[in-house]
Amino acid sequence: MDYVIIGGGVGGLYTAYYLLKEGVPGERLHIVTQEWPPYTRHRLGEILESGSPIDNAYLGIVPHLKRAGVEFIISRATGLDPSEKKVIIDNGKGISYDELIISTGASPFIPPIKGVHLSNVSTFYDIKALEELIKVKKSLRITIIGGGLVGLAAASALRRRGHRVIILERLPYLLPTVLDEFPARILSDYLRGEGVHITCGEEVKELVGGKRAQYVRTNSGIRGTDLVILATGVRPETKWLEDSGIELGRGAIKIDRRARTSLSNVHALGDAALSHDYITGREVYRPLGFIAAHYAKVVAKDLTGDSRASKGIIPTLYERVLDVHIIRVGLSMAEASSLGLSSEVFCDKTADRVECWVKEAGGAKLGYELITKDFVRRNKAWDVYTDIRDTFA
Ligand SMILES: Cc1cc2nc3c(=O)[nH]c(=O)nc-3n(C[C@H](O)[C@H](O)[C@H](O)COP(=O)(O)OP(=O)(O)OC[C@H]3O[C@@H](n4cnc5c(N)ncnc54)[C@H](O)[C@@H]3O)c2cc1C
Repeated sequence: MDYVIIGGGVGGLYTAYYLLKEGVPGERLHIVTQEWPPYTRHRLGEILESGSPIDNAYLGIVPHLKRAGVEFIISRATGLDPSEKKVIIDNGKGISYDELIISTGASPFIPPIKGVHLSNVSTFYDIKALEELIKVKKSLRITIIGGGLVGLAAASALRRRGHRVIILERLPYLLPTVLDEFPARILSDYLRGEGVHITCGEEVKELVGGKRAQYVRTNSGIRGTDLVILATGVRPETKWLEDSGIELGRGAIKIDRRARTSLSNVHALGDAALSHDYITGREVYRPLGFIAAHYAKVVAKDLTGDSRASKGIIPTLYERVLDVHIIRVGLSMAEASSLGLSSEVFCDKTADRVECWVKEAGGAKLGYELITKDFVRRNKAWDVYTDIRDTFA
């Protein structure tokens, strides 16, 4: 039985790791990946910030997989023929599979505005972008378009490196898919206190310049800039599956509770796929590494005969932006409402922290948001996770 995994990121490599653990021989595992060596994106920010070697981003399980005999094929998958059970790669060859696992992640969304292709405009999504930013030695005016997780990771690192950073967020507050408005506004206040300029509710219309962007024009004015980073969200990397007949929802691969897709012998996971929310059971698109890691185990178990269904995901985040710590577990009020739940947010604020619980009308805890300038243990997030999980078990 040959297992072919497409994508050598968190989802793909951890699936291989768990399949080995379940007793699948390494020689039967083949990973097709277009990036080499494989790395984890969530370390890009800390490497840029600390100046530590780029090698720190590389995934440490690769030598283990190689020793076990896993084959790495450095190539791009361009098509899937499920009737022949073949993946087509960029040299036109077909790779046959008995079981296929798709974990091709996502790619940054490039907004359709004039000037996004100018030479000093980039994303903050891969090693190449990290290398370019490390090369910048003198202090620049850097505009980050988008105040989500990736935008904040870039802002934190670049501010620490001495740049003048401005974040432009189109929506009324930072981290709009993570936090509710009150904690997000406190987060903005804290980050302004650390020298980050933040403007919310302002939409970028154009990047103006010759070869390089010199100005950013928004709906309310024009600002000078030396460098622009686009952090405007991601889209699932599924275009290559267009003719395969696989079922998609919002561009991502639909999966069931065992990460099986609509095609026989094909599983999918990670940023390329939808997942299920633990509390509501509804399908959601959440491009987060720990979700990819969760489903890697689900896929490996399902393929090796333990078909226990995943109960779904309680999103859990622990982030540090400059000296501000952010924990978010479960649902924000905004997300609860989009999933059909009516809720309220209860916040407790002191000078250095705001702590909020999102509660359903009956009082059940749906979510938790903490913004603090004090150190907070990562385990705090997992304590809250257990609390919410047990409520809805
Ligand atoms: C700056 C940054 C910070 C982040 N911080 C966090 C965080 O703190 N917490 C968190 O939970 N998540 C975080 N994330 C998100 C996290 O990195 C992703 O959710 C995670 O990497 C998803 O894993 P994946 O395997 O689905 O995709 P990826 O890790 O992106 O791996 C997909 C791989 O497939 C390859 N590929 C794509 N298409 C093809 C193809 N056609 N053929 C062959 N190979 C292909 C890609 O090149 C890539 O190597 C962050 C992301 C970024 C960019």
